[in-house]
Amino acid sequence: MNPPLPLDLRDRDGLFDALGARLFDLAVIGGGITGAGVARDAAMRGLSVVLVEARDFASGTSSRSSKMIHGGLRYLAQGDLALVREAASERKIVQAIAPYLARETPFVIPARNAGSIAKLRAGLWTFEKLGGVLKSRKHEVWSLADLQAHEPTLKTDDLAGAVVYPEYLTDDARLTLANIRSAAASGAVVANYASAEAIIAGGGGGTGIDVIDTLPGSHGRRARLTAKVVVNAAGPWVDAVRMLEDGGAAPRLNLAKGIHLVVAHDRLPITRTIIFPASDRRSVFAVPRGAMTYIGTTDTLYPDPDVWPAVTDDDVDYLLTATTKHFLISPLTRADIVSVWSGVRPLVREAGKSTSDTSRRDEVWLGPGGVLSIAGGKLTAYRKMAQRVVDQAETMLRRKPSACRTADEPLVGGDAAPPGAGDNPAVEARYAVLDEGALTLEDYWVRRSGRAWFDLDGGLAALDIAAKTMAPLLGWSTARTVEEIEGCRARRNNLMAAVRGRRGTV
Ligand SMILES: Cc1cc2nc3c(=O)[nH]c(=O)nc-3n(C[C@H](O)[C@H](O)[C@H](O)COP(=O)(O)OP(=O)(O)OC[C@H]3O[C@@H](n4cnc5c(N)ncnc54)[C@H](O)[C@@H]3O)c2cc1C
Repeated sequence: MNPPLPLDLRDRDGLFDALGARLFDLAVIGGGITGAGVARDAAMRGLSVVLVEARDFASGTSSRSSKMIHGGLRYLAQGDLALVREAASERKIVQAIAPYLARETPFVIPARNAGSIAKLRAGLWTFEKLGGVLKSRKHEVWSLADLQAHEPTLKTDDLAGAVVYPEYLTDDARLTLANIRSAAASGAVVANYASAEAIIAGGGGGTGIDVIDTLPGSHGRRARLTAKVVVNAAGPWVDAVRMLEDGGAAPRLNLAKGIHLVVAHDRLPITRTIIFPASDRRSVFAVPRGAMTYIGTTDTLYPDPDVWPAVTDDDVDYLLTATTKHFLISPLTRADIVSVWSGVRPLVREAGKSTSDTSRRDEVWLGPGGVLSIAGGKLTAYRKMAQRVVDQAETMLRRKPSACRTADEPLVGGDAAPPGAGDNPAVEARYAVLDEGALTLEDYWVRRSGRAWFDLDGGLAALDIAAKTMAPLLGWSTARTVEEIEGCRARRNNLMAAVRGRRGTV
């Protein structure tokens, strides 16, 4: 097992020197789950690896997912057996290497009649067979009385029972961080707030990447790193990075936005994840998480990559209306919303298909400058995606193929709660800086602690104490400390303004 080395990224001069100091075997652009998985796998195989992330690790889609490590039952309906097989078996691996980051939870799919139950069961049998699901983890059928007893807030007038099967819930940002830390513990150089701005196609000395420091107050620090193989794992920004390699590259992604709403658990007091239909018959879900329940998600075409994709009235209405329709609760209103997050799926374009129908499979393309771009895929299958990319990179490096070990070794920090977990922002913030590479208050508030989404006040009460803890560690002046706090408050105000009070109908 890799020792859980602290990930302390405060020495920016030293880090930027390290970026330019040698010819790396592999450079990864993008520190979401895809890039983090690639870096971990490659470093564990003994390649010299560098990863650069333009903002914070997991600040893109990998902190905005539905936070499920799931088998993708719905892809059975699309006939995508390979995808389901891979997701179902990868679930088990993530659970084995990071038990703290994959909590088993029952998913409940209510059904209207015996025919629907039979259809669901047929799907689940296939799913269980494809995924090699253990007998003890196979689905069960609930009668109407069972359903009413177990989930009394669900409206059951037109239901006949439910099918229940286990999936896993994760913390997407922390899963990404665990991979980043694990890569670093295996020798990878990893840098957040380090944006790839130019790609200089490879000559004999490898491909060059011009990297600039995007951390506030960094005064344009930059480095040119060189690597024999470059992997573009920039998620929704994959096309933008492809353009750095080839200015005429045609776009290959479609972006699909999804939002999630968080309400207090006592407003939607469920004990398991429940799936139910929205007005357009798409499946949506409600997930209990501690003192909160979150509801998701939408699936709408979104024009451009965006770190904070806009949340619209329609997005909010869609989820509130569906939830109110299916639960015995007083109607959920905008005033009930505790927080909201929104992200975009980087889907590989398929002509004539809606975003919901587009396959979630990943694809890898080799660009004219020798850059490997990977797009599509799921959080759940990140490890296998990484394995395929690193296998290909080894071929390009003319290296003897080596064994992938990422399924066997535990993930750093994936086996236990982070120290300080238990409502202590000072302890958490200190750990975030010294062990988890946090460099801004937002890094702590949104991605290391998740308080922005799951505290009743959106984590506002934790900001002052966390900022005061971080300030001496990161050399912040009083003015900078205030800016960090105000920046998070403004972010929260913007998000909440988008969901509250504009129409006030639902
Ligand atoms: C609403 C929603 C719900 C989802 N739910 C689930 C789910 O429950 N389960 C599941 O398995 N999957 C889910 N997914 C899919 C999953 O979240 C994504 O497949 C995955 O997070 C994509 O990760 P990524 O690393 O490819 O992209 P990202 O996480 O976006 O990472 C790309 C990174 O590249 C960085 N970058 C961009 N340009 C540059 C540059 N020039 N230099 C350096 N860095 C750069 C970005 O800052 C970003 O951090 C969901 C997705 C969405 C949107």
